[in-house]
Amino acid sequence: MRILVTGGAGFIGSHLCERLLNEGHNVVCMDNLYTGREENLQTFLGNPRFKFIRHDVQEPILMEVDLIYHLACPASPVHYQANPIYTIKTAFLGTLNVLELAKRLGVPVLLASTSEVYGDPIVHPQVEDYWGNVNPVGVRSCYDEGKRAAETLAMDYRRYYGVDSRIVRIFNTYGPRIDPRDGRVVSAFIVQALQDQPLTIYGDGRQTRSFCYVDDVVEGIKRVAAAREYPGPVNLGNPVELTVADLAAAVLAMTGSRSYVVHQPLPKDDPVRRRPDISRAKVIFGWEPKVSLEEGLRRTIVFIRQILADRGPVREQ
Ligand code: NAD
Ligand code: UDP
Repeated sequence: MRILVTGGAGFIGSHLCERLLNEGHNVVCMDNLYTGREENLQTFLGNPRFKFIRHDVQEPILMEVDLIYHLACPASPVHYQANPIYTIKTAFLGTLNVLELAKRLGVPVLLASTSEVYGDPIVHPQVEDYWGNVNPVGVRSCYDEGKRAAETLAMDYRRYYGVDSRIVRIFNTYGPRIDPRDGRVVSAFIVQALQDQPLTIYGDGRQTRSFCYVDDVVEGIKRVAAAREYPGPVNLGNPVELTVADLAAAVLAMTGSRSYVVHQPLPKDDPVRRRPDISRAKVIFGWEPKVSLEEGLRRTIVFIRQILADRGPVREQ
């Protein structure tokens, strides 16, 4: 197949491009490099079945493909809050343009949505039928509401135009190629630990997250895209839940760092807890994460250690 991956130069997108190429597909990666990097494409840039197109998905897209994975959107709080107008425009207009393309071509399209649609959840763990608890006027809204509107578009294009749209809700994902400067908790803690800087825990560190290794997420995304019968939304994440303080302790132990933790103010609207209920993914797609946190962190530490060795220190965030 000829497959379009928007956001393909980003963290998850580059792994998806690589997997699709390894399976023998032709891959068109569309990205404006807002947060993505060409280095992420290094290992397969020379593959004749791979094509990189530098394009902003806020602008209409014209091309011929058989399947679309739509991932283009800044994803870390630091990056999506840097220019909130850009973020909400990308989430809405980007999805609109991708759905228009899918409609014109009559091809399936998978939207990468997020656990952020649940906001600061009252229902725990989060099931797909939960409608969420999102502040519509807060600092995270550009992303949360942008993705909620993107989901609405995907479902309305399905109902109104018959577009074969699917939705996955991805929970916190980590692994090699994560941007060491994106301020996400896994990358931030590893960078700080390897540079012997204090690990910055926001708030008391008792807030929880559930971290899924990138290969597992890519596998889930592919399974949902492959099955015609189910549009989703489908949660993709690792149900192992831990506190941010536990994560800091794990990173300190695994890096052998001499560093320590410091506490900083909790950002506004930071969700108190997050864990996916993955029954739907398990039952319908036979999917569940395979890589343990320990193994995943080990591989991510190797990656970030190499980046620091190649490019020098990352400035304190
Ligand atoms: P990322 O920032 O590494 O990748 C996003 C990519 O989209 C980047 O390459 C960026 O340059 C590109 N992009 C941004 N705006 C664009 C635009 N207007 N036009 C074209 N390209 C544009 O982030 P990621 O972690 O790889 O996330 C990928 C997708 O998965 C996003 O849609 C994100 O919302 C979703 N997601 C990620 C996570 C996670 O934990 N990583 C969790 C939930 C959802
Ligand atoms: N966090 C932290 N220190 C950091 C970065 C993040 O304590 O240096 C916390 C953050 O407040 C949140 C959790 O870690 O509670 C996850 O943050 P991240 O930005 O990775 O993703 P989120 O799930 O909030 O989108």
